[in-house]
Amino acid sequence: MLRAIIVGGGIGGLTAAFALRREDADVVVLERAGELREIGAGISIWVNAMEVLAGLGLAEAVRAAGREESEGIEATIRTAGGVTLSRLPAEALGKRFGLNVILTRPDLQRVLLDAVKEAGVPVRAGSECVGFRQDRSGVVARLSDGREERGDLLVGADGLNSVIRRQMLGDERPRYAGFTAWRALVDLEQDDQAFEAWGGGASSGWSASAWAVSTGTPPRTHPRGRRTRGPGGRRRCSNGSGDGTNPSLR
Ligand SMILES: Cc1cc2nc3c(=O)[nH]c(=O)nc-3n(C[C@H](O)[C@H](O)[C@H](O)COP(=O)(O)OP(=O)(O)OC[C@H]3O[C@@H](n4cnc5c(N)ncnc54)[C@H](O)[C@@H]3O)c2cc1C
Repeated sequence: MLRAIIVGGGIGGLTAAFALRREDADVVVLERAGELREIGAGISIWVNAMEVLAGLGLAEAVRAAGREESEGIEATIRTAGGVTLSRLPAEALGKRFGLNVILTRPDLQRVLLDAVKEAGVPVRAGSECVGFRQDRSGVVARLSDGREERGDLLVGADGLNSVIRRQMLGDERPRYAGFTAWRALVDLEQDDQAFEAWGGGASSGWSASAWAVSTGTPPRTHPRGRRTRGPGGRRRCSNGSGDGTNPSLR
């Protein structure tokens, strides 16, 4: 039986673990975090990803944990002055391809984790991978506490600062592009608008996803990692002034 090691128990790692288990592989997930805690805000799963989940038999569970994007939602790209440059109505997309599913990341992770556990895949929390080595008989994952895990294949699903990618492809760090997104859960009266405004050397925008909203303000010159006062609590998330710009972003 093929033995597969998945490094990282995030969205990609859990999905890969479930898919490989369905193909009768003997799978183990190594996760750095001491426990898979419920962290995150809203996440939108587009129809191509939903097709993958449907192929794995997980689409209904994911849909039940969230909701399909409302057909009334329209995403627009506007100038800084509020003039609409392009429209992306969910209704048209839905008719052609189907609707996105919106849910919180913790709910998505819970659905995937439940499926993985039910399939009998061990998820070893507190297992930080620091690298791997290959030999003729397979691959060995090396952990920070000195433990090792041997398998026939290894999947690096350890996120943005992947140690697996670094070892395979070299020490090229992700480049910060100057864009910052705040993610938060808020109560909304209306969630049928999403937009980005471009111009003046910056772009900003907001999108509301069911119970979730992500908002950004002039990000281009925003220094990496600087703490800022996000919109939550300080500014009201109201849904637009009618002139094409959103007062909560000013
Ligand atoms: C805590 C968290 C909250 C997020 N919240 C949101 C959100 O609210 N909305 C949204 O749209 N996106 C969110 N994201 C991003 C989104 O989940 C990911 O961009 C996307 O799912 C890509 O998934 P991934 O599996 O490649 O990586 P991730 O989901 O980032 O998962 C990577 C996993 O690998 C683990 N890991 C990292 N290094 C190691 C290592 N050396 N050894 C073992 N394990 C390791 C991490 O602990 C993590 O569990 C969040 C990501 C994280 C980690």
